[in-house]
Amino acid sequence: MTASPSRRRTLRRGADFAAAGLATAERAAAIDLVAERYAVAVTPALAAAIADPQGALARQFVPDARELLAHPADRDDPIGDHAHSPVKGIVHRYPDRLLLLPLLTCPVYCRFCFRREQVGQAPALSDGELDAAVAYIAAHDEVWEVILSGGDPLMLPPPRLGALMRRLAAIPHVRTIRIHSRIPVVDPARISDGLVEALEVERAVWLAVHANHADELGPEARAACRHLSRAGIALVGQTVLLRGVNDDPAVLEALFRAMVECRIKPYYLHHPDLARGTAHFRLPIERGQEIVRALRGRLSGLAQPCYVLDVPGGHGKVPVGPVYYRDGEVEDWQGGRHRYPDPRR
Ligand SMILES: *Cc1c(COP(=O)(O)O)cnc(C)c1O
Ligand code: SF4
Repeated sequence: MTASPSRRRTLRRGADFAAAGLATAERAAAIDLVAERYAVAVTPALAAAIADPQGALARQFVPDARELLAHPADRDDPIGDHAHSPVKGIVHRYPDRLLLLPLLTCPVYCRFCFRREQVGQAPALSDGELDAAVAYIAAHDEVWEVILSGGDPLMLPPPRLGALMRRLAAIPHVRTIRIHSRIPVVDPARISDGLVEALEVERAVWLAVHANHADELGPEARAACRHLSRAGIALVGQTVLLRGVNDDPAVLEALFRAMVECRIKPYYLHHPDLARGTAHFRLPIERGQEIVRALRGRLSGLAQPCYVLDVPGGHGKVPVGPVYYRDGEVEDWQGGRHRYPDPRR
């Protein structure tokens, strides 16, 4: 597609979206109102990829007036990050692993973001804050895995990212480093040789790629994933189940097949969190279970993620079914029921 000038810079205001053909004048006014409350950004590459202003990509990234609606279930801290933050930039909920959030910036802002009250609003950790966070990790020898999240950790300039990776890899009890990122999908040009080298440290490095629709895995994204996996970085996928985007077994089937073709093992299918102004993306858990049930059998086991809910209040992630065994009876992939002679306890 030939890029018009309006498509070469990041879209942040209503007028930018209108000029890119992604919003009417009325919608552009609503986008400006949303942008006063939440971070808004769409990269030129992503804007060019949004072929249909009503499609799955547009729904994830183009601001919507419904984001300004309050829903009684909404929360400012939907997964209880604040309840488990001993030091700025650290969320330590489980004994063996913790989150390190070096920055809260992303190249694009997803309209359903669970950290939307923070992303794009705060500066990156200062050198002193980062030192304190790394010191916390070094002082807690139960921490086997450090998970870089944010924001998007791959926004760090490669030399800074490399320095952080090496500091973490130098802590003897930290055996695994996981990075959660949307960049391979939304800004694949950033997966440069320098960035990949920054990730190559003497530890198992895992990258959790956030993608919600097969249309996000175009040729550039696939090339970025290949670059990462050739460097020995293990790839897993995380997907948010979103009404109007991917709440359909055929859509998820195409996504999870595309992931496996890119050597990304689908890991989690997240039920949407109770972030403010995102009620229009939510669907009943029972509907999610039906969708997941429909995928079983028609899709390779390699391509099946675990459907999870992050329990509000900071109680962690819990698989939410569906359940295939109950009271001595199992259900097969076609819905057939069978007795299973389970021994008594
Ligand atoms: C999601 C999350 C993790 C990682 O959980 P896994 O089930 O290991 O993927 C760790 N810590 C916090 C605070 C989290 O929110
Ligand atoms: S990439 Fe992640 S942190 Fe950034 S806006 Fe999207 S959901 Fe939020």
